[in-house]
Amino acid sequence: MKERKCSFCGRGASEVAVLIDSPVSNSRICDQCVTQGHEILRREFQRSSMDLDLELIPPRQLTAHLDKYVIGQEKAKKILSVAVYNHYKRLLQGNSEDDEVYIEKSNILMVGSTGTGKTLLARTLAKAINVPFCIADATVITEAGYVGEDVETILTRLLQAADYDVAAAEKGIVYIDEIDKIARKSDNPSITRDVSGEGVQQALLKLLEGTIVNVPPQGGRKHPDQKMIAVNTENILFICGGAFDGVERIIKRRINRRPLGFSQDDERKMADTDNLVRYVNAQDIRQFGLIPELIGRLPVITHLSPLDRTALRSILTEPKNSIIKQYQKLFAMDNIKLEVADDALEFIVDKAIEFELGARGLRSICEQIILDAMYEYPSKSQKGRMLALNIDAEYAQKHFDNSEHVKAIRMAV
Ligand code: ADP
Repeated sequence: MKERKCSFCGRGASEVAVLIDSPVSNSRICDQCVTQGHEILRREFQRSSMDLDLELIPPRQLTAHLDKYVIGQEKAKKILSVAVYNHYKRLLQGNSEDDEVYIEKSNILMVGSTGTGKTLLARTLAKAINVPFCIADATVITEAGYVGEDVETILTRLLQAADYDVAAAEKGIVYIDEIDKIARKSDNPSITRDVSGEGVQQALLKLLEGTIVNVPPQGGRKHPDQKMIAVNTENILFICGGAFDGVERIIKRRINRRPLGFSQDDERKMADTDNLVRYVNAQDIRQFGLIPELIGRLPVITHLSPLDRTALRSILTEPKNSIIKQYQKLFAMDNIKLEVADDALEFIVDKAIEFELGARGLRSICEQIILDAMYEYPSKSQKGRMLALNIDAEYAQKHFDNSEHVKAIRMAV
């Protein structure tokens, strides 16, 4: 008798586990083809649901959303909102190379000292438009062949954030931190190759331009028999950020070379300001040591201003998930009502400024002040009875002064 065969792949009954006969024709399908078909359907459905989920939020609304989480940085919010809106408009419209007008991708460069909200902005944006997001650190990437991570591992993280849904990852946002740390050390291309500088910039360039990259699903270094996942970076939005310490000097030098049409007064006004970074442009970044090709792939440049007292004070209480609100929530779970008085908030801001920690320092200062209470209060709390914990400047001062980490840890043990 002739062996029954799968009508799709032609495998015989002896080669497969199950053959399902069609009830209406003389054909059948094997278990392997069903599994494969299922996978194709899953990907298709995921792709279309991703298209639907992608929320095209107009720039104004996007900025309004950012305002709930990020204090100040108006200029950066505006520029980012427009760039992100255009990026996803381009993506939803479809964009073929044959189109008369081909909309190019606009990756973004953010310049601003640490703790001014660069990562927070990128993360909040990705969340608002509901796309996978990951953070990569430019300093750990090295050229292929050197010790460190291959540039492809950036996309491993994005794939992980997208639950290995390649179609979703291909529309995601990647934030590359510390891009300034891979700058060429001098303006002259060096004869010897530098491990962390230009070679890495070249490697990054390919990702930013849009290419198909073979990504190791588990990260780490590539090795020959590892199964790779192909990811197209054409529609991935790359946002790069860095402090670019010292760029102010370059900016100052540039604007001091007074172009025609600038009065001496204008010049002085510009050069005297303590927030020179607001004038940053591609030329300055090039002088700083990023290669022109890479800068060309980062056409949107924006800056983040240093945070002043008022901004730091607002960061403590105003954002939707502000630091103080987070502590209040933690305490509320133990029936404890936490109130932080204005003078205590001022104290925290004073310390952040004193230690030059910017917004990054706010949390660790709060942590030191509140640690004792977080240790003691939960055992005091009783069901059905609300305890009050009021922190004023005096309390803050006392616990802050008493609490180098070591001391605190010793108490807790
Ligand atoms: P950067 O990437 O610029 O170094 P981050 O975005 O990581 O800084 O900021 C560190 C932390 O400081 C954030 O998690 C956030 O709590 C706080 N922060 C910094 N800038 C702001 C801001 N402008 N508004 C609200 N919170 C901020």
